Formats: sequence, structure tokens, C-alpha cells
Amino acid sequence: MDLNIRNRKALVTGADSGIGFATARALLAEGAEVVLTDKDPDTLRDAADRLSEHGDRVHGFDADVTDAEAVDRLRRSVEDAVGDLDILVHSAGIHGAGGLFHEINQEGWDHTIDVNLMGPVRITRAFLPGLRRGGWGRIVFIASEDAVQPYDDELPYCAAKAGLLSLAKGLSRTYASEGLLVNTVSPAFIATPMTDEMMTERSESLGVSFDEAIRSFLADQRPFMELGRRGRPEEVAQVVAFLCSDAASFVNGSNYRVDAGSIATI
Ligand code: NAD
Repeated sequence: MDLNIRNRKALVTGADSGIGFATARALLAEGAEVVLTDKDPDTLRDAADRLSEHGDRVHGFDADVTDAEAVDRLRRSVEDAVGDLDILVHSAGIHGAGGLFHEINQEGWDHTIDVNLMGPVRITRAFLPGLRRGGWGRIVFIASEDAVQPYDDELPYCAAKAGLLSLAKGLSRTYASEGLLVNTVSPAFIATPMTDEMMTERSESLGVSFDEAIRSFLADQRPFMELGRRGRPEEVAQVVAFLCSDAASFVNGSNYRVDAGSIATI
């Protein structure tokens, strides 16, 4: 299927790692011009280098999505480099504060919400005017299975991702008539540094191997993930790329689950 996004201008946040990196690569493979952004300039440069086969269609500008001034600098750099965006994919996120509700302090709540919910708000506020000017646009937020199926030891993350679904739905109503379609993708348990870290902690606390930590996590905590494995970032990126494309011209305000069945309900 031709996604028909050749020469479209895209920004991907959280792009030096995991799902964001795989998405940047998928959009580049479809011929888009892609700006990668992430918070660490060194790892961002490495990521851009790994995509250097795409030549001058790859750009990289660092920004911390919790810093409004940095996001504004990013907007100016992106506009200078590629002009107005057609596509915005927000993948930057953290697992954030863990533990039961009474074990998480105010700072844990503030930081997790600041990155995972206010980050996408800041990024969208910065780039929305340009996206609206084009008359054709796509926004995709990476939410999570946790948005609709909260786990009691990661409530700040779950609440932020639930907020993201609501944000996307609201935006989709406001801007669809201008050709700007907004959707979310909700993965579960993808093999990225985020879940590597979770599984490393689990293996240390249970005194088992990394692979056994994954196996027991799937058995005990994700029983409906019928495929019995972690997903690959590319398996999420393909769905994101579709939603960023002309092929998804009648998809708006949706939440696509890429979770191997982790959400038990239909
Ligand atoms: P990852 O850790 O590989 O990538 C996340 C990226 O976000 C990193 O590159 C990180 O530097 C960046 N980031 C974090 N804080 C930032 C900040 N303040 N400013 C700018 N960038 C920042 O993890 P991933 O699994 O690829 O996660 C991508 C998205 O997918 C996240 O929003 C995550 O919540 C979501 N998600 C992941 C999974 C999973 O199983 N991996 C499941 C559901 C949802």
C-alpha cells in the first residue's frame, strides 16, 4: 500500500529510542522528511547517524518537552529547517513514578504528568498553527494500554495516558474539518529501553534471569497478551505510519491498540 506521504514534513518526539525511532525510520522509508527530537543531544545525534542513508531528509534538534522555552526553540529550528509540519508524532514519555498511590510523592506525580501529558500539550501548542496552515495534517500521540486499563502500581502514568486519549479526542473534533486528523496508538509491553528497565528491576527483585522476568510478567500481569512475547517497536511504527498517511483519510479520533490483546475487553 502506498501511504502517499512522500515529501511530507514530520516531527517525531522521543525519536532517538524505541517506538519513536522506529516511527521515524518508517516515515523516512515512506519518503517523508523527518525531524527527530529528543532530550539528549548526543543520543539524538547517534540516532540521526543511524538514519543517515536517508540523507538530507533527516534532521535532529534536541528539546526537553517539559521546558516551554526549549520547545519554542525547537519550533523555530524546525520551521527554519523544513517550514510548516504536516505530521506530528508524539512518542516522548517516561514510565515515571511507580508504587501504590500512598507510596508516590507529589514530585513523582508532578514529573510524570509533566512529561507524559503536559509534554504533548506543549508540543501540540507549539506546532498546531503550522499544521493548521497546510490544510492536510496528521497528529498521532503514543498513549498506552494503561490509559483504559490502569495498573495500581503506576497510576501517574495511567492517569497521564488517559488524559492523552481525552486530549486527542477533543483535538480531533476541533480540527478535522480543516483536514487535520488526530488519533492515538496504545501499545502494550514493547521491547524498548522503557520495558528493558522494568524487566531489569523485576529480575533483580525476584532474583531471576531477564528472560524469566519477562515470562513471569506475561503470565502474572499480562495474561491476555496471547502472543506471549514483547512487541517490537516496528510493529507499533507500522500502525503509526498508517495513521500519518493518506491511507487513513477517514480515521479520526480513534485509539488503535497495538497490544496483542492485552486489553481484555472489546
Ligand atoms: P523509550 O524509553 O525507548 O523512548 C522514550 C523516549 O522519550 C526516550 O528517547 C526519551 O529520551 C524520551 N523522553 C523522555 N522524557 C523526555 C523529555 N522530558 N523530553 C524529551 N524527550 C523525552 O520508550 P518507548 O517504549 O519507545 O516509549 C515511547 C512511548 O510509548 C512513550 O510515550 C511510552 O509511554 C509509550 N508506551 C510504551 C510502551 C512499551 O511497552 N514500551 C507501552 C505503552 C506505551
